Amino acid sequence: MLTRALPYYEFSEGIYEIDEFDCVSVFVIVGEKRALVLDTGTGIGDLRWVIENRITDKPYDVILTHNHVDHIGGAGFFDEVFIHEADYDWSELELPVTVEERRWYANLIAGREDKSYIYSPETDITEWPKEPVKKVMKDGQVFDLGGRKVTVYHCPGHTAGECVAIDDKSRILFCGDACNRNFLPALKTSSVEEAAGTARKGLERIYAMKGTSFDMVYNAHHDYRGFASPLGENVLPDLIRCLKDLENGSADIREVPDPLSDDGGVRKVAVYGNVEVAVGK
Ligand SMILES: [Zn+2]
Repeated sequence: MLTRALPYYEFSEGIYEIDEFDCVSVFVIVGEKRALVLDTGTGIGDLRWVIENRITDKPYDVILTHNHVDHIGGAGFFDEVFIHEADYDWSELELPVTVEERRWYANLIAGREDKSYIYSPETDITEWPKEPVKKVMKDGQVFDLGGRKVTVYHCPGHTAGECVAIDDKSRILFCGDACNRNFLPALKTSSVEEAAGTARKGLERIYAMKGTSFDMVYNAHHDYRGFASPLGENVLPDLIRCLKDLENGSADIREVPDPLSDDGGVRKVAVYGNVEVAVGK
């Protein structure tokens, strides 16, 4: 049996963070009539059972913030998922969403954290029972949960189809990987300057809603914030500033250990405050 021991916590009324063993966080927002699940993790253990038996018995939709393996890895355990059209095609992903890549990623994070976990990659990361039905999610799409509405915004930069979501009741911005302290721009098909420009424009549009639509930010990885705690206030504005510096060639570039390397590799990053933007090896 897949492990059901995924840690979770209701940190705001009707809002749960589920910790997929430090690989990623999945959020569940529960309204009066429906619920909304943000991301499906790497697909470790029985996330669906936890949602349906521990968190809510209401009907729910699943949205994927973007098409990286640690966010779509559990998609095939759900019937239907929403994703932006720019991230709709999963056929040529850098890390394909296979059992092998999902295990590789989980092992990488477990090694980085140097902890022991209750799950086993061999028995708790398994083939999907089926392909999920994919539905296209649009910029501005509203999920009315009853007593609260969650609006999705397209915010490209980390991937072409990255989306963020704002819950109007808690005034929380859920930003997926669109804003992390260690931000990874999509560098596969564009230059650093272009990728930084795309991310900066996307994030400026979202940041303009600070104080009117949202007050707090939760990103999808709690390695740079406490579990169930919001991201530091400075991260979003400092990331925008760091991206601007990259666009105009004035960024402070340094070499740091690569947190996603399994052989002690380094990478180059632009630094502003405590925010880093990866710019290459
Ligand atoms: Zn990602």
